[in-house]
Amino acid sequence: MKNTEFAHKLINWYKIKKRDLPWRHTQDPYRIWLSEIILQQTRVAQGLPYYMKFIENYPTIQDLAKASEAEVLRLWQGLGYYSRARNMHFTAQFVTHQLSGIFPNNYLEIKKLKGIGDYTASAISSFAFGERKAVLDGNVFRVLSRVFGITDDISSTTGKKKFAQIAQDLLPKDESPTYNQAIMEFGALHCIPKNPDCNNCTFSGNCYAETHKQQAELPIKIKKVKTKTRHFLYIIFQYKNQLMLKERTEKDIWKGLYDFPLYEQNSTQNIAILQTIYEETIKQELSHFMIGKKIQVFSNQEFRFEVKKISGIVKHLLSHQKIYAQFLVLDIPNQTIFQKLETKLSAQFYPFETIENLPKPILIADYLKKHFF
Ligand code: SF4
Repeated sequence: MKNTEFAHKLINWYKIKKRDLPWRHTQDPYRIWLSEIILQQTRVAQGLPYYMKFIENYPTIQDLAKASEAEVLRLWQGLGYYSRARNMHFTAQFVTHQLSGIFPNNYLEIKKLKGIGDYTASAISSFAFGERKAVLDGNVFRVLSRVFGITDDISSTTGKKKFAQIAQDLLPKDESPTYNQAIMEFGALHCIPKNPDCNNCTFSGNCYAETHKQQAELPIKIKKVKTKTRHFLYIIFQYKNQLMLKERTEKDIWKGLYDFPLYEQNSTQNIAILQTIYEETIKQELSHFMIGKKIQVFSNQEFRFEVKKISGIVKHLLSHQKIYAQFLVLDIPNQTIFQKLETKLSAQFYPFETIENLPKPILIADYLKKHFF
C-alpha cells in the first residue's frame, strides 16, 4: 500500500466516523493544548467534562494565568498527574506575561514551553497552525505497527525515532492536520488495543497484523513500568465541624493538593503500634494510648484526644504507585490545643465548606465524602 493510499483511506474513514468534539471546532492553540493535556491521561468520555469546566472558568489563556494554582488544581481534581495542571498554569502565566499573551506558532518554539513534549507540540502546531508535523501518541504507534508490521520496541529511543520518521513520511502534503486527527481517531475507535474489528476495517487485506494474526502482539512495548508500594497512615484531627488539613509542598505525588497530617510507614501497621507512630509524629506530646478499651485515648497533661474512628486499609492505585492508606480520626475536645496543633504540625483547621473547595487527591476526597460530607 502506498503512503498516499494509506492517508486517503484514513481520511475517508475519519470523515464518516469522527466524533464531534469541541476542540475540533477551534484553532485556538490554548484550547487545543488544554484538550491534548487532558486527553493524555483520560478517555474522551471522562475528559470532556473537565475540558468544558476549564473553558467555562478560563475561556482564555490569560484567564488561566490569572487563576490561583489551588483553583486550577481543584478543577483538575480526579484527573491525576497534577504536575500537568501545575505546568499548564505556569506556562499560561509565562505566555501571558513573557510572550505578551501570544502563543508560539511553530513546533520548535511550542516545545520549549514547560510541560509540553513532542506529542503535544506536534498536535498544537498541526491543529492550530497547520504545520506539517506528524503526531505520535499511543494510538498512532498501534496503528502504524499493525498496518506496516513494525516490530521495534515503542518504548526504546531507537524505536521512537523510527516510528517518528515513518509517521512523518506518511503525512500527506495537503490536509496534514485532518490526517493527524484521523490516525489518532482510528486508533481510538477502530484499531483498538484488544479485539480490533479487522473484518470491517478499511485496511483489511492490506494490514500486516491482520494477515499474520499479530494484532495482540503489536505494538511491541518491552519496558515495564515499576510500581512502588507505599503505606500511609493519615491522622485526622476533628474539632466540631472542622478538620485539619495540610498542603503538600514536597516534591512528591499530589504537590499543591491538601491531605491530612500523614505518617508514611514502611509497611501497614496494626493498631497496637499506632502509639509509637503517633508519639513520633508529634514528638512526645502525647504519652498515653490505651488499647483494648472502648474509647482509646491519647493524653498527657496538655492534650487529650479521643480516637473516634480507625478505618480499614484502603487501596489506592496510581499509574506508578500502589498506596495502602489507613485513616485515624481523633476528636479534639476543646479549643485550647487548636493553635498549638496547627503550629506543631504546620497544618490548618478548615470548616467542612472550605474543605470542599480545596484541591484534594481522590483518595482524600472519597474518604471525606464517605465519612464526613
Ligand atoms: S485490519 Fe485490524 S489490525 Fe489492521 S488496522 Fe484494521 S483493525 Fe487494525
